[in-house]
Amino acid sequence: MNKSTRVKTREKVDLLVVNANELVTLAGGSDKPRVGKQMRELGIIHNGGLAIKDGRIASVGKTSEITKAFRAETIISADGKTVLPGFVDPHTHLVFAGSREEEFQMRVEGAYYMEILSAGGGILKTVRETRRASVDKIVDFGLKTLDIMLEHGTTTVEAKSGYGLTTKDELKLLEVIKRLAQLHSTDVVSTFMGAHAIPAEYKNDPADYVNIVVEEMIPAVTEKRLAEFCDVFCEKGVFTLEQSKRILLTGKNHGLNPKVHADEMSACGGAELAAEIGAVSAEHLLYASDEGIKAMANKGVIAVLLPAASFSLMSEHHADARKMIDNGVSVALGTDFNPSCWIENMQLVIAFACYLLRLTPAEAITAATINAAHAIKKAHEVGSLEVGKKADVVVLDVPNHKFLGYRFGVNLVDKVIKNGRVVVDREKCDEPLLASETQ
Ligand SMILES: [Zn+2]
Repeated sequence: MNKSTRVKTREKVDLLVVNANELVTLAGGSDKPRVGKQMRELGIIHNGGLAIKDGRIASVGKTSEITKAFRAETIISADGKTVLPGFVDPHTHLVFAGSREEEFQMRVEGAYYMEILSAGGGILKTVRETRRASVDKIVDFGLKTLDIMLEHGTTTVEAKSGYGLTTKDELKLLEVIKRLAQLHSTDVVSTFMGAHAIPAEYKNDPADYVNIVVEEMIPAVTEKRLAEFCDVFCEKGVFTLEQSKRILLTGKNHGLNPKVHADEMSACGGAELAAEIGAVSAEHLLYASDEGIKAMANKGVIAVLLPAASFSLMSEHHADARKMIDNGVSVALGTDFNPSCWIENMQLVIAFACYLLRLTPAEAITAATINAAHAIKKAHEVGSLEVGKKADVVVLDVPNHKFLGYRFGVNLVDKVIKNGRVVVDREKCDEPLLASETQ
């Protein structure tokens, strides 16, 4: 066979990524979230490559195999770099208006989050600002946030409502999430969280508010098909176990998969509740009991840990991720992006997971990709680099995956590919500014 016939037999694709020092595939975990030692298995291919066609991954392998079988007009060399699946952020409060930097200062000076909330600040301040804001304003803010997340390698994001707390305002926020999903290249997955706080007007009648969530909001949300998940802030002083259970089971009967903000500030049985009702995930879990952890493992409830949130609370206490992994709980990581924990960057979350939760970089990467995808039921589409999945790919300008966590506080992203398209290319905008150009 001469050279020209060999060239012709190579299949034409849209894009090749070649020469990756490490191609971190996370292959083989799409059916079930990874647990225990599996969380350290990244499926790394040295000198790896990818072929991408029609927005999907067409082939994964050694660079030599990829270039032998495929050709493309656009070829990205990841020489000396690390290639990963796009990060999946399974827990954000993406849609709100305003900010809470004054409270940040109060927390620095010793105020507690729950004190601020019960005095009408915290979530309730954001509720007031969000109710007043126009849809366009919240959409613009959401788009900007998704851009920043994408620049840091996040290609799939879960977004919760929860700063409306009336049927009208919760529907408004879920409509914003729907618009964001339509407008932005990032995949946005919607969660209804009407039970995020007791609104000020129901301070003395929380049971009446729960009735509204159950009887009015959930039917309206599902009729308009505005959410896939239903979440509740189950916590002392917020929603009780019984109220949380009622809301989540009503959501489940309407086709909304349950998620629980559980045991964040105190041990209140949230992990046990998540297991009992068959929740997809329980989030935070700083104070989860041993029984709760075992129940989650038995029922396959994913622990979505949010170390940036406990960091931002200035707490000495963090979720016991090692105990969870040792007990067979599948662990995922998210930002918990919200106005009191303003973080868009999953790389920094991975670093916090290493430093504060003692996950290894490999475990943290698993938790931020394939396990996070399972936590929002998207593991068949994203979270690993496997044939047929969405071509959501991050190229990091570091030689291997262990630099994630090790090197923190800067953006390690070189390129981001979303649905097979290069959407971030920092090589193009990061030319060093030379002294001669500024004089
Ligand atoms: Zn949250």
